[in-house]
Amino acid sequence: MKEKLENFLHRREILKGLRKAAAGGRKSLVVPFEQILKFDMALAKSLLDNPTDFLDTADATLEGITKVPGMRMRVMGLDSTVEIRNIRAGQVGKFIQVEGVLTRSGEVKPEAKVAVFKCQRCGEVIKVPQATELFREPFICYNPNCGKKGPFDLVVEKSEFRDWQSLSIQEPPEKLRGGRMPRRLNGIVRDDFVDKAVPGNHVVMTGILHVFQEGPSRQRKTVFRKLLFVSHIEVLQKGVEETELTPEDEKKIGELAKDPWIRNKIIQSIAPSIYGYEAIKEAIALQLFGCNPIVMPDGTRIRGDTHILLSGDPGTAKSQLLKWVSNVAPRGLYTSGMKATGAGLTATAVRDEISGGWMLEAGALVIADGGLASIDEFEKMRPEDASAILESLEQQTISVAKAGIVATLNSRTAVLAAANPKLGRFDKNIPIGQQIAIPPVLLSRFDLIFPVRDEPQAERDRMMAHHVLQLHSAPEKVVKPPFDADFLRKVIIYARKNIDPELKDKEVMKSIEDFFVEWRKVAETGEAPLPITVRQLEGVVRLAKANARMRLSDRVTKEDANRAINLIKCSLQEAGTDVETGRVDIDVFMTGRGKSQREKVQRVLEIIKELEGQYEGAAPVQEIRRIAQSEGISSSFVDVVIDQGKRDGTLYEPKPDMISRAVRA
Ligand code: ADP
Ligand code: MG
Repeated sequence: MKEKLENFLHRREILKGLRKAAAGGRKSLVVPFEQILKFDMALAKSLLDNPTDFLDTADATLEGITKVPGMRMRVMGLDSTVEIRNIRAGQVGKFIQVEGVLTRSGEVKPEAKVAVFKCQRCGEVIKVPQATELFREPFICYNPNCGKKGPFDLVVEKSEFRDWQSLSIQEPPEKLRGGRMPRRLNGIVRDDFVDKAVPGNHVVMTGILHVFQEGPSRQRKTVFRKLLFVSHIEVLQKGVEETELTPEDEKKIGELAKDPWIRNKIIQSIAPSIYGYEAIKEAIALQLFGCNPIVMPDGTRIRGDTHILLSGDPGTAKSQLLKWVSNVAPRGLYTSGMKATGAGLTATAVRDEISGGWMLEAGALVIADGGLASIDEFEKMRPEDASAILESLEQQTISVAKAGIVATLNSRTAVLAAANPKLGRFDKNIPIGQQIAIPPVLLSRFDLIFPVRDEPQAERDRMMAHHVLQLHSAPEKVVKPPFDADFLRKVIIYARKNIDPELKDKEVMKSIEDFFVEWRKVAETGEAPLPITVRQLEGVVRLAKANARMRLSDRVTKEDANRAINLIKCSLQEAGTDVETGRVDIDVFMTGRGKSQREKVQRVLEIIKELEGQYEGAAPVQEIRRIAQSEGISSSFVDVVIDQGKRDGTLYEPKPDMISRAVRA
């Protein structure tokens, strides 16, 4: 093997590569596996079977040729990839290739390569190469006149160190359809390949599958842990095109573009087992297709992903919808805001099991980068996620500065979130904004907010009951969408890859402009609150482009724009209506309160103030409700005001069922 390998490394193309690497100051020579295979099959096989010997010999030879210490050979592009969950004992000690999402990476640390010691008794200098993970000291002094067992001092400045980093990859979301838990594999990278990839990157790694034992040396178990000694890391730049479309697929989808009913067919294919929710399904279809982000000449970037929030009564198929979408979306991922384990939604610093230092671990939004994240129980997310997610939704990056790790991770992810109302169910008399336990700033990041109410309506109930019963008796009869999930995913992948609709038509632009100006005009009259902001305007453009892309057309038409406007109107109307005036009021979800609501809140606080005077500093809740009721303010509204006041610290409960103001004005 040695001779063949040396011959191989003296070939012209290798020498050329080496010269280039040395000129660029790099200490790695990357060799495609195919090159070795073409040169000699047996040589390639010896790499796969005895990688440690192979690479040690190769490194020594390269050092000899270049006279650069630490020159390394790295092999990329094996012809087969092992799935992380299929790694078995037979692969231990072998050269393998795995693919996944980099979820954790630790800080770069110096690892001793050659430790230099000085004997405290005679001053003899002793070099000890460090070949294994356990740090080795000399047994006895090498000076024959001394020969004592030390003690020895480590001479740091004479010792040699190399860069060392531990990382962890996990199976990519697209391999996890059907709710499988991702498996992970830990690895170690050395020298100039540290920090090649950041958490969230999709990577292909080659390396030697090592094992190590846990625990103190005296009580070692026979069961080992896996650890990949990484040879090469390649960051995959591909976006959503995880599955290759066959030429037949491309042809079939290309023809679909001529179908005048394509839009309806796609919408009908969204979660076909769930009854109703046409507007929500249309919104989801548009979200799946999305549009490309816009990068301005000055580097500013406007996201192309649409974010949707479903907020509603329990048992209204929200979770069901979310699960369906995460299964169909390319790089789709389903998670719950509440999930306490792991890195949560954004990113977090965790303890490194191998080195004891800190590692950066990517959360759901980073892992789903380039895809879609379904987040259930959104209101229950951890407080540290709540602040980081703001940046993630708008700028689509997550900046981390924790435990000495500073990094910016990409989270170019569309978010479909579901939340339950604060009081368990929606109350018709209270604006939606006040009933969702999500801060208004966060709410404002969503392009579309749909309240899902579970109100009895005899006719609809009968149809729904019929639908659900049929579903249970003969599912295949009810659920026959125009496109099945697999084909729909292919259409989405095709469209996202090939179609980037343009908004050029003067007339179309004018209609969006008019919509914006018209709706803003209401604000000018003074009395009415501000109905719509520039965020919604951007939202309309995104949805209009997604509409065109869904039709597999690269031009936004007036109908595309109208449909987008209608959807935004529908969402604003449902979610943002000030129940008192019936007007759409963006303040309702931006600040949680409409104008007339504000006046009512003011009035409730006044009542509390008056009662404080009568009842020795604390107002009985019963009385507040009674007086408010007599002025046409509902008891549940009073409860919300009290609830909110208690939470933001302006009100408190000195005795049961008594309320006081914390700040007396
Ligand atoms: P949520 O998350 O909104 O509380 P789930 O998604 O858990 O509700 O849904 C509860 C159950 O009710 C599911 O089995 C779902 O299929 C069913 N269901 C609710 N609404 C519908 C509907 N419109 N069409 C079909 N099934 C429905
Ligand atoms: Mg649910």
